Amino acid sequence: MKTVVESALLPTYPPTRVEFVDGDGMWLTDSAGRRYLDFASGIAVVGLGHRHPAPLAAAHAQLDRIWHASNLFASEPAPALAAKLSAKFGGAQVFLCNSGAEANEAALKYARKATGKPGVIALEQSFHGRTTGSLAVTGQPAKREAFEPLLPGPRFAVPNDVASLHAAASDDVGLVLVEPVLGEGGVIPLTPEFLEACAALAQELGALLAFDEVQTGVGRTGSFFAFEQLGVKPQLVTLAKGLANGLPIGALLVADDATGTFVPGDHGSTFGGNPVVCAAAGAVVDTIDDELLANVRTQGARLADGLRSLNGVTEVRGAGLLVGAVLDGPAQPVADAALDAGLVCLTSGPNVLRLAPPLVVGAAEVDSALETLTEVTSR
Ligand SMILES: *Cc1c(COP(=O)(O)O)cnc(C)c1O
Repeated sequence: MKTVVESALLPTYPPTRVEFVDGDGMWLTDSAGRRYLDFASGIAVVGLGHRHPAPLAAAHAQLDRIWHASNLFASEPAPALAAKLSAKFGGAQVFLCNSGAEANEAALKYARKATGKPGVIALEQSFHGRTTGSLAVTGQPAKREAFEPLLPGPRFAVPNDVASLHAAASDDVGLVLVEPVLGEGGVIPLTPEFLEACAALAQELGALLAFDEVQTGVGRTGSFFAFEQLGVKPQLVTLAKGLANGLPIGALLVADDATGTFVPGDHGSTFGGNPVVCAAAGAVVDTIDDELLANVRTQGARLADGLRSLNGVTEVRGAGLLVGAVLDGPAQPVADAALDAGLVCLTSGPNVLRLAPPLVVGAAEVDSALETLTEVTSR
């Protein structure tokens, strides 16, 4: 348990003590045969739980037919997935890629060409990815500093502060980009009033409004898109993490009333729309029904209520099964102790413990996780 797993990988992640070799539903097994309850789902990725039969069967079937032929030719799974996402959104066209950062790059390029304006308003503490474009609009200076200069023009507003949003306004802004819940920046939900102000400002400036739903999308907050609960519908939405239950995928959705900008040659991706990945994603979208979304809301509330009574928790916030417990001290030691006790958790910023279990989690598993966390925080 205490030895660090060594490898020849570049050290872009902190050293790890655990190697997972097997997953089944809510459970992970490490190389020593020890079982862990998964309240991380990767980082809000494996939404249906490990080896869920629907995406597993769809990916297997596609693996046995064709893996890749390129976007120069038609293949059934990508347009089928796009049609499903369009139906969920209420009319959109979709660009498929391989990650959240790539989906946000596509949004940046789309807005630039659609409006002819390079400026972007994003939020302090936001996270949009690690590529140079998506990093440029990420509101965390520590992640950006070593790589500057990045894209010129981003302006950062304070989450839920309408005055600071208006202060960031400028005629050269072509994109307003926000996460409905800031997933990496401390699990901060944006208020409907603030999102309404974002929409009004985008319209006034002739900019597109984009929601980065890479973490909040695909059922995580209790609706397919988080925006459905917030009363504001953006022109652009990006998805990634939960969309293929662990296979790499990203998507940019462009609302029907904002399409028409990209033409052949404007954008592309060799692997984007991969048949195996899209087959899995199509099965994920089909599986996220009203019953599962109701479970996300019920178990999310149960988890949040339980966290409120833990030692050292000053605030609990989030939406559905994306829950942040603000601690009165650093969160990483709590996540580490929970891991030692057989519960996988995440952090979000220095003092927020983040929980994002698979959407299929049941009450007994929520209670078991709370029991472990009670034990760990009362030491
Ligand atoms: C994880 C994340 C990204 C980046 O996704 P990658 O697949 O790691 O590139 C972008 N935006 C949000 C909100 C995220 O949570």
